Amino acid sequence: MERKTQNKIKRVTKILVDKFGYPYRHENLPAPLDMLIATILSQNTNDKNSYKAFQNLKRKYPAWEEALSAKESTIENLVRVAGLGKQKANAIKNLLDDLNSRDEGFSLSHITELSDLNAIEELTKYDGIGVKTASCLLLFALDRNVCPVDTHVFRTVNRLGIVSEKSRDKTYFILNESFPKDIAHTFHTNLIRLGREVCTPRNPSCGVCPVEKECLFEEKNLENKTVSAERDFMLLDNVRLLN
Ligand code: SF4
Repeated sequence: MERKTQNKIKRVTKILVDKFGYPYRHENLPAPLDMLIATILSQNTNDKNSYKAFQNLKRKYPAWEEALSAKESTIENLVRVAGLGKQKANAIKNLLDDLNSRDEGFSLSHITELSDLNAIEELTKYDGIGVKTASCLLLFALDRNVCPVDTHVFRTVNRLGIVSEKSRDKTYFILNESFPKDIAHTFHTNLIRLGREVCTPRNPSCGVCPVEKECLFEEKNLENKTVSAERDFMLLDNVRLLN
């Protein structure tokens, strides 16, 4: 990544901190396997439903080893509230079975020691774990300086001109080539908030956007001075999700 792009990321981070503050972060990181399963459950649904599904699983299986003997259909019933129940149950079951077969014991220790890129490569070998899910594990549970690219980050970094890519995964790899030190969590979380509240997919509120001067989007909607009423009541906050 070019120096000027790194500087732009730093400027955007500062502007968003001035606007939204520093995002909440619990001092204790969540357990990696909790985080990974919670992120699998969060795919294609809202935070409220993925939280319910995670709680259903945790109540039934306080230790993940207890889910090893569960039928896939039982897991599916527990996670159905998060949608794609069959697919998610299958991904969770395969993951747990694989961990159980490893010499290192039942853990993600074969991942947590790897570099960011190698960890993503290993994690995405599992069915149901893509680059976004893998990078959420790195950021939120392993405290790595990576910026996952969800739908909001994808849209906003492309509109801002930080990257110019058509696929989310390519956007992730370009954005994270040499991400400025120590600010990935702040940038990622505040950008999601910007995407939800201001830089919405349709009719973005460019007229009140705090980073309008940094933005290269050709179809700016400067007439719109109304901030979207859409506001998810649970901002992606992995730690709160897991506690
Ligand atoms: S100026 Fe408009 S398009 Fe650009 S980041 Fe802000 S809301 Fe999004």
